Amino acid sequence: MTIAPLTETRGLVEIHNVHKSYGGLEVLSGIDLTVQPGEVVAILGPSGSGKSTLLRTINHLESVDRGSVTVDGQLIGYERRGDRLYELREKEILKRRTQVGIVFQNFNLFPHLTAVENVTEAPVATGLREKDAARSLALSLLERVGLGDKAEHFPRQLSGGQQQRVAIARALALSPKVLLFDEPTSALDPELVGEVLDVIRDLARSGTTLIIVTHEIGFAREVADRIVFVDGGRILEQGPPERVLVDPEHPRTREFLAKVL
Ligand code: ADP
Ligand code: MG
Repeated sequence: MTIAPLTETRGLVEIHNVHKSYGGLEVLSGIDLTVQPGEVVAILGPSGSGKSTLLRTINHLESVDRGSVTVDGQLIGYERRGDRLYELREKEILKRRTQVGIVFQNFNLFPHLTAVENVTEAPVATGLREKDAARSLALSLLERVGLGDKAEHFPRQLSGGQQQRVAIARALALSPKVLLFDEPTSALDPELVGEVLDVIRDLARSGTTLIIVTHEIGFAREVADRIVFVDGGRILEQGPPERVLVDPEHPRTREFLAKVL
């Protein structure tokens, strides 16, 4: 794969001219996005616009056809040799991926493991921590998301909101440099949305770098430093919430907001 010449890295996350197709369908059509340390970016856009695919390229759950993603100056999923990128071996991909946490819509907890075991698994499996240290970290993270008393519960014994909070604790256990959320409250009953948003709000306030795909416009407005509007695999506009949400420049943004607000 040929790439643009090495440019100076400025942000914590640097997405440069990312293209991605499935079969003949181009899903990402040249995405450029820079996220600064401590920044909270909310990604909005219609269904099928490429939001999940974009998030998944950031931790290399999806490869890219063109362009590059760096986190803290390090390429994710690839290494550079001359002016070309080569995909890394699985082991190295997994190691670099620990820098990017991701929380999915459907929690994706291991059903046969308790809450604390779910949170302990990755740091031990990746060699980041010894078992005992991983367990005490897991317990303190469960405490942080308000589930100190649920450590020994299995996912099926927890509500959707509690499961999602375990998933957040699990993502934090690898001390990622950036945390990605893909519609973290979309699968929840309405009365459980608030407890998950509270946890994300706390993370935002504590200076964690967050990229959040959400349809919760009010929440995005409250916590995001920047709103990015995606449609048809492109970023159509971005800016401070009060500007993009109140006075959108692009007709597609206006159309989208009219539907969801
Ligand atoms: P969004 O999250 O904004 O709803 P996605 O990134 O999930 O959008 O999907 C963008 C487009 O890519 C959709 O048309 C979807 O059907 C397609 N797509 C996503 N993942 C795959 C895949 N693994 N194989 C084929 N097509 C896919
Ligand atoms: Mg999606």
